Amino acid sequence: MAGRRRAKNSKAVALIFLLLMSCAALYIYVGRERGERRGVAALSLAVAGQVVVVDPGHGGIDVGARGPGGTKESEIVLAISRHLAEFLQQGGARVFLTRQDDNVSVGESGDDLVERVRLAQRVKADLFISVHANAFDDREYGAQVFYDPASQEGRKLAEAVQAEIRRLLKNTEREALGLDAFVLRTQEIPAVIVEVGFLSNPREEKLLADPSYQREMAFAIYAGIARYLGNY
Ligand SMILES: [Zn+2]
Repeated sequence: MAGRRRAKNSKAVALIFLLLMSCAALYIYVGRERGERRGVAALSLAVAGQVVVVDPGHGGIDVGARGPGGTKESEIVLAISRHLAEFLQQGGARVFLTRQDDNVSVGESGDDLVERVRLAQRVKADLFISVHANAFDDREYGAQVFYDPASQEGRKLAEAVQAEIRRLLKNTEREALGLDAFVLRTQEIPAVIVEVGFLSNPREEKLLADPSYQREMAFAIYAGIARYLGNY
Protein backbone atom coordinates (compact mmCIF):
# COMPACT_ATOMS: atom_id res chain seq x y z
CA MET A 1 0.00 0.00 0.00
CA ALA A 2 2.69 2.39 0.97
CA GLY A 3 4.38 1.54 -2.30
CA ARG A 4 1.26 2.30 -4.32
CA ARG A 5 0.68 5.56 -2.50
CA ARG A 6 4.25 6.57 -3.21
CA ALA A 7 3.68 5.73 -6.87
CA LYS A 8 0.53 7.86 -6.89
CA ASN A 9 2.35 10.68 -5.11
CA SER A 10 5.25 10.57 -7.52
CA LYS A 11 2.80 10.67 -10.43
CA ALA A 12 1.21 13.78 -8.92
CA VAL A 13 4.63 15.32 -8.37
CA ALA A 14 5.57 14.60 -11.97
CA LEU A 15 2.32 16.17 -13.17
CA ILE A 16 2.87 19.30 -11.07
CA PHE A 17 6.46 19.43 -12.28
CA LEU A 18 5.31 19.21 -15.92
CA LEU A 19 2.71 21.92 -15.32
CA LEU A 20 5.30 24.19 -13.72
CA MET A 21 7.74 23.57 -16.57
CA SER A 22 5.18 24.48 -19.22
CA CYS A 23 4.23 27.61 -17.23
CA ALA A 24 7.90 28.56 -17.09
CA ALA A 25 8.32 27.95 -20.83
CA LEU A 26 5.25 30.06 -21.57
CA TYR A 27 6.48 32.79 -19.23
CA ILE A 28 9.90 32.86 -20.92
CA TYR A 29 8.29 32.96 -24.37
CA VAL A 30 5.78 35.70 -23.49
CA GLY A 31 8.49 37.55 -21.57
CA ARG A 32 10.75 37.56 -24.60
CA GLU A 33 8.00 38.83 -26.88
CA ARG A 34 7.12 41.53 -24.32
CA GLY A 35 10.78 42.42 -23.91
CA GLU A 36 11.12 42.87 -27.66
CA ARG A 37 8.00 45.05 -27.80
CA ARG A 38 9.20 47.13 -24.86
CA GLY A 39 12.57 47.44 -26.58
CA VAL A 40 10.99 48.72 -29.77
CA ALA A 41 8.81 51.16 -27.83
CA ALA A 42 11.74 52.52 -25.82
CA LEU A 43 13.78 53.16 -28.97
CA SER A 44 10.93 54.50 -31.09
CA LEU A 45 11.30 58.10 -29.90
CA ALA A 46 14.48 58.48 -31.94
CA VAL A 47 13.25 56.56 -34.98
CA ALA A 48 9.73 58.02 -35.39
CA GLY A 49 9.24 60.08 -38.54
CA GLN A 50 12.50 58.96 -40.19
CA VAL A 51 12.51 57.72 -43.77
CA VAL A 52 14.72 54.65 -43.99
CA VAL A 53 15.69 52.60 -47.05
CA VAL A 54 16.55 49.02 -46.14
CA ASP A 55 18.50 47.30 -48.89
CA PRO A 56 18.73 43.49 -48.87
CA GLY A 57 21.80 42.81 -51.02
CA HIS A 58 21.79 40.66 -54.17
CA GLY A 59 18.68 38.69 -55.26
CA GLY A 60 17.47 37.00 -58.43
CA ILE A 61 20.25 35.22 -60.29
CA ASP A 62 22.81 36.92 -58.04
CA VAL A 63 22.69 34.89 -54.81
CA GLY A 64 25.81 36.54 -53.39
CA ALA A 65 27.94 34.46 -51.05
CA ARG A 66 27.06 30.85 -50.33
CA GLY A 67 27.95 28.87 -47.19
CA PRO A 68 29.39 25.32 -47.19
CA GLY A 69 25.94 24.13 -46.06
CA GLY A 70 24.33 25.81 -49.07
CA THR A 71 22.93 28.92 -47.31
CA LYS A 72 22.50 31.75 -49.80
CA GLU A 73 23.39 35.31 -48.85
CA SER A 74 20.47 36.71 -50.89
CA GLU A 75 17.97 34.71 -48.78
CA ILE A 76 19.26 35.41 -45.29
CA VAL A 77 19.78 39.13 -45.91
CA LEU A 78 16.19 39.38 -47.18
CA ALA A 79 14.88 37.72 -44.00
CA ILE A 80 16.95 40.02 -41.76
CA SER A 81 15.94 43.09 -43.79
CA ARG A 82 12.26 42.23 -43.46
CA HIS A 83 12.56 41.98 -39.68
CA LEU A 84 14.51 45.23 -39.60
CA ALA A 85 11.80 46.95 -41.68
CA GLU A 86 9.18 45.64 -39.25
CA PHE A 87 11.03 46.98 -36.18
CA LEU A 88 11.55 50.36 -37.84
CA GLN A 89 7.88 50.57 -38.82
CA GLN A 90 6.80 49.66 -35.29
CA GLY A 91 9.08 52.46 -34.14
CA GLY A 92 7.23 54.93 -36.38
CA ALA A 93 9.67 55.19 -39.31
CA ARG A 94 8.64 55.10 -42.98
CA VAL A 95 10.50 52.20 -44.51
CA PHE A 96 11.22 51.28 -48.12
CA LEU A 97 12.80 47.96 -49.08
CA THR A 98 14.85 47.90 -52.30
CA ARG A 99 13.40 44.42 -52.91
CA GLN A 100 10.47 42.64 -51.28
CA ASP A 101 11.32 39.14 -52.51
CA ASP A 102 13.83 37.50 -54.82
CA ASN A 103 13.09 39.91 -57.67
CA VAL A 104 15.60 42.68 -58.22
CA SER A 105 14.72 45.90 -60.01
CA VAL A 106 17.22 46.98 -62.65
CA GLY A 107 14.95 49.84 -63.81
CA GLU A 108 15.90 52.18 -66.63
CA SER A 109 19.59 52.16 -65.76
CA GLY A 110 19.86 48.40 -66.19
CA ASP A 111 21.95 48.32 -63.01
CA ASP A 112 20.38 47.20 -59.73
CA LEU A 113 22.91 49.14 -57.62
CA VAL A 114 21.98 52.39 -59.37
CA GLU A 115 18.28 51.63 -58.78
CA ARG A 116 18.88 50.91 -55.08
CA VAL A 117 20.44 54.35 -54.66
CA ARG A 118 17.79 56.01 -56.85
CA LEU A 119 15.04 54.67 -54.60
CA ALA A 120 16.66 56.43 -51.64
CA GLN A 121 16.77 59.69 -53.63
CA ARG A 122 13.16 59.31 -54.83
CA VAL A 123 11.72 58.82 -51.33
CA LYS A 124 14.06 61.46 -49.83
CA ALA A 125 15.45 58.93 -47.39
CA ASP A 126 17.19 60.01 -44.19
CA LEU A 127 19.18 56.78 -43.88
CA PHE A 128 20.28 53.91 -46.10
CA ILE A 129 20.95 50.49 -44.57
CA SER A 130 22.33 47.81 -46.87
CA VAL A 131 22.38 44.24 -45.50
CA HIS A 132 24.93 41.69 -46.73
CA ALA A 133 26.76 38.59 -45.49
CA ASN A 134 30.47 37.99 -45.80
CA ALA A 135 32.55 35.06 -47.01
CA PHE A 136 36.28 34.54 -46.66
CA ASP A 137 37.43 31.36 -44.93
CA ASP A 138 36.10 29.03 -42.23
CA ARG A 139 37.92 30.81 -39.38
CA GLU A 140 36.67 34.37 -39.83
CA TYR A 141 33.49 35.25 -37.97
CA GLY A 142 31.46 38.20 -36.69
CA ALA A 143 29.34 40.99 -38.10
CA GLN A 144 31.00 44.17 -39.33
CA VAL A 145 29.56 47.50 -40.41
CA PHE A 146 31.07 49.59 -43.23
CA TYR A 147 30.80 53.29 -44.08
CA ASP A 148 32.12 55.66 -46.72
CA PRO A 149 35.46 57.05 -45.45
CA ALA A 150 34.41 60.55 -46.62
CA SER A 151 31.17 60.54 -44.60
CA GLN A 152 31.34 61.63 -40.94
CA GLU A 153 27.67 60.77 -40.33
CA GLY A 154 28.01 57.47 -42.13
CA ARG A 155 30.85 56.64 -39.79
CA LYS A 156 28.81 57.59 -36.70
CA LEU A 157 25.89 55.46 -37.89
CA ALA A 158 28.20 52.51 -38.61
CA GLU A 159 29.85 52.79 -35.18
CA ALA A 160 26.47 52.91 -33.42
CA VAL A 161 25.19 49.82 -35.28
CA GLN A 162 28.47 47.98 -34.65
CA ALA A 163 28.29 48.87 -30.95
CA GLU A 164 24.75 47.50 -30.58
CA ILE A 165 25.61 44.30 -32.47
CA ARG A 166 28.55 43.79 -30.11
CA ARG A 167 26.49 44.61 -27.01
CA LEU A 168 23.37 42.60 -27.84
CA LEU A 169 24.73 39.57 -29.71
CA LYS A 170 28.04 39.29 -27.83
CA ASN A 171 29.74 37.33 -30.58
CA THR A 172 32.11 39.78 -32.20
CA GLU A 173 34.81 42.27 -31.28
CA ARG A 174 34.95 43.74 -34.78
CA GLU A 175 34.91 47.46 -35.36
CA ALA A 176 33.21 49.61 -37.99
CA LEU A 177 35.42 50.16 -41.00
CA GLY A 178 35.66 52.54 -43.97
CA LEU A 179 34.97 51.00 -47.38
CA ASP A 180 34.83 52.28 -50.93
CA ALA A 181 31.55 50.85 -52.24
CA PHE A 182 29.09 52.16 -54.84
CA VAL A 183 26.00 52.32 -52.57
CA LEU A 184 28.00 54.25 -49.95
CA ARG A 185 30.07 56.52 -52.17
CA THR A 186 27.12 57.76 -54.25
CA GLN A 187 24.95 58.99 -51.37
CA GLU A 188 24.73 62.23 -49.42
CA ILE A 189 22.73 60.69 -46.56
CA PRO A 190 24.30 58.47 -43.86
CA ALA A 191 24.63 55.05 -45.49
CA VAL A 192 26.09 51.79 -44.18
CA ILE A 193 26.63 48.23 -45.28
CA VAL A 194 26.02 45.73 -42.50
CA GLU A 195 27.88 42.48 -43.16
CA VAL A 196 25.92 40.29 -40.75
CA GLY A 197 28.58 37.57 -40.47
CA PHE A 198 30.63 35.02 -42.40
CA LEU A 199 28.72 32.38 -44.33
CA SER A 200 32.09 30.69 -45.00
CA ASN A 201 32.29 29.81 -41.28
CA PRO A 202 30.09 26.70 -40.76
CA ARG A 203 29.23 27.72 -37.17
CA GLU A 204 28.19 31.21 -38.20
CA GLU A 205 26.39 29.90 -41.29
CA LYS A 206 24.16 27.83 -38.96
CA LEU A 207 23.46 30.90 -36.83
CA LEU A 208 22.66 33.09 -39.82
CA ALA A 209 20.26 30.47 -41.19
CA ASP A 210 18.39 30.35 -37.85
CA PRO A 211 15.19 32.48 -37.99
CA SER A 212 15.45 33.55 -34.34
CA TYR A 213 19.07 34.68 -34.80
CA GLN A 214 18.01 36.57 -37.92
CA ARG A 215 15.45 38.42 -35.81
CA GLU A 216 18.00 39.14 -33.07
CA MET A 217 20.43 40.49 -35.67
CA ALA A 218 17.69 42.72 -37.11
CA PHE A 219 16.86 44.00 -33.63
CA ALA A 220 20.54 44.81 -32.94
CA ILE A 221 20.72 46.79 -36.21
CA TYR A 222 17.50 48.57 -35.24
CA ALA A 223 18.92 49.41 -31.80
CA GLY A 224 22.05 50.77 -33.50
CA ILE A 225 19.99 53.04 -35.76
CA ALA A 226 18.08 54.32 -32.72
CA ARG A 227 21.37 54.84 -30.88
CA TYR A 228 22.70 56.94 -33.78
CA LEU A 229 19.49 58.97 -34.14
CA GLY A 230 19.09 59.44 -30.39
CA ASN A 231 22.76 60.40 -30.09
CA TYR A 232 23.51 58.19 -27.10
ZN1 LIG B 1 26.85 40.78 -50.48
